[in-house]
Amino acid sequence: MLVAPRRPTRVLDVGGVKIGGNHPVVVQSMTTSDTRDPAATLAQIKELAEAGCEIVRIAVPDRKAAAALPQIIPHAVVPLIADIHFEHTLALAALDAGIHGLRLNPGNIRKAEDVREVVTKAKQKRVPIRIGVNFGSVAPMPEAFVDEMAERGASQLELRAEWLVRSALGHIKILEDLDFYDTKVSLKAFEVPVLLEAYRRFAALPNDYPLHLGVTEAGTPRAGSVRSAVGIGTLLALGIGDTIRVSLTTNPTEEVFVAYEILKSLELRQKGATMIACPTCGRVEVDLFSLANQVDEFLAKIDEPIRVAVMGCVVNGPGESKDADVGLAAGNGKGVIFRKGKIVRTVAEVDMLDSLKHEINLVLEDRRNGIVDEVTPTARYKPTLQLTPV
Ligand code: SF4
Repeated sequence: MLVAPRRPTRVLDVGGVKIGGNHPVVVQSMTTSDTRDPAATLAQIKELAEAGCEIVRIAVPDRKAAAALPQIIPHAVVPLIADIHFEHTLALAALDAGIHGLRLNPGNIRKAEDVREVVTKAKQKRVPIRIGVNFGSVAPMPEAFVDEMAERGASQLELRAEWLVRSALGHIKILEDLDFYDTKVSLKAFEVPVLLEAYRRFAALPNDYPLHLGVTEAGTPRAGSVRSAVGIGTLLALGIGDTIRVSLTTNPTEEVFVAYEILKSLELRQKGATMIACPTCGRVEVDLFSLANQVDEFLAKIDEPIRVAVMGCVVNGPGESKDADVGLAAGNGKGVIFRKGKIVRTVAEVDMLDSLKHEINLVLEDRRNGIVDEVTPTARYKPTLQLTPV
């Protein structure tokens, strides 16, 4: 089995979105707007939701941000998680404003009675808490721990990973001592080997807390997407992970796109179109890069799952992309349109893009009419599209 069965986890409810158990892996992101500006924050939440984000985290760094929450939470189109550090009154304000989830580490709140107050209110309101330990901000390792790991012959990687796990367990214990179990956990690191080892170790422990995955501060879109895909993708393939966030230094809607590409690659979720495009080689006879980009632009507007192939030669194209629902092989002055590897029509190069779009629409229309995987007979080709003779 290539993708391991999911680690069994308890089910949490974040504002109606179910997390854990057999529920699909949930895509999360975070606003970059100033939370003190409700209009800007709501606009970004809407933009993220339209991109497919299912839960949005918002930073609540101070009282002014907390004071804006009543103007944000009731109008948000997806459930919200308040990201809070140190200050328990901010968590209380978020809970009073109707927040759906908290991200806070109880061990970072100084007074035990303050933690108790937050946890009691979260419990009353059935609001889950995510404990999030990041290697960059985790408490320094005590000497006794370093000595213990040295005695066990642990490598630097194991030392770091184990410290992330122990830190998370410390926060979890505070919640469990208060009889709180609606907890989700993340153990983020920038170094993928540390991240993998930490999650692997935590997942082997006898608890069923859902896990949120992410590579912290992954970077700019190109490198950050790859790093996130390796880190998050590897864990998901091991059956670990219930929610994911791709952290990128760019507009967060890009994070949502990358998150779905990771889930689609592992066939854990389907969302919108998947494009297969050949890298081109010495046989290519058209500007495939530009053609593929035009198809990509067209596919971005399609929400239903469909696989579309764009191939650079008519000799190998259809055969190389047999699994595509619909495809185009371009070259030699013409374009061959195919479905599931079977050629349905050949058109002049000038018509090939429109013909491909037309065929994609036909596939979607067929599905809506209950016709599955039927290779379109030429007769069904609608006369609305004027074709140049090949
Ligand atoms: S489909 Fe044709 S052009 Fe594209 S990589 Fe394969 S052989 Fe080369």
